[in-house]
Amino acid sequence: MSIRTTQLCKTYNQDTDFPVHAVKALDLNIEQGEFVAVMGPSGSGKTTLLNMIGGIDEPTSGKVVIDGNDICELSDKNLIAFRRDNIGFIFQDYSLLPVLTALENVEFVMQLQGHSEAECRVRATELLNRVGLGDHLHKVPSKLSGGQQQRVAVARALAPRPRFVMADEPTANLDAANTSELLDIMQQLNENEGTTFIFSTHDPRVIKRARRVIVFEDGQLTEDRVR
Ligand code: ADP
Ligand code: ADP
Repeated sequence: MSIRTTQLCKTYNQDTDFPVHAVKALDLNIEQGEFVAVMGPSGSGKTTLLNMIGGIDEPTSGKVVIDGNDICELSDKNLIAFRRDNIGFIFQDYSLLPVLTALENVEFVMQLQGHSEAECRVRATELLNRVGLGDHLHKVPSKLSGGQQQRVAVARALAPRPRFVMADEPTANLDAANTSELLDIMQQLNENEGTTFIFSTHDPRVIKRARRVIVFEDGQLTEDRVR
């Protein structure tokens, strides 16, 4: 249950005079249960890396092997199913569906997995309670604060019981108290359920809590330390 990249590359604008080498020949191994921060300056390739190992962005060359399977070899249909069942995403802008309530946003991703309505209701309610939104189940995102929306996004990412969660700057729009709470939730899940977390961040408060810190510069890994 690991993620392994070999010689992973992403080049944007490849067929132009100004190709951008966002990720360069990266070899990286992340084991199930790790709690990893990816840090580095803006534009260093963190988002591109997370998107490739999460199967939402296609590498230019190289491999992403998850549990022994090269995800780039999967058909579109199988990749979508693999992602849905194994990988949770938390985006910086939350990406909640604006017309659905907090509860419906979380239920929706479970419905896609084929769970019954009753099951979805129970688990979504439980998760939203756990992230402190028990009193806001029926509000649409625009009626929630940024921190509350972020917590809905976290509950949604966790609802399908993914084995890996990718989070791109998850605390970028959160104040200190919300940052600390979000980290507590992530850490608890990591410790109790063995969920792997891989998150990009600039935030020293977040880096301090990571057990492994990967430093990315100009598309390359320049430091990899485990605490
Ligand atoms: P980070 O997350 O560290 O800020 P990104 O992965 O977003 O880095 O970007 C890495 C590099 O790739 C940057 O130079 C960025 O401008 C470029 N880039 C990212 N996405 C695209 C895209 N869709 N098209 C062209 N260039 C891109
Ligand atoms: P972050 O710093 O969080 O990675 P960015 O602001 O760099 O976010 O990028 C936001 C979005 O813009 C991403 O979807 C990325 O793919 C896209 N993007 C970034 N740089 C470029 C670029 N040079 N050309 C086209 N799209 C880009």
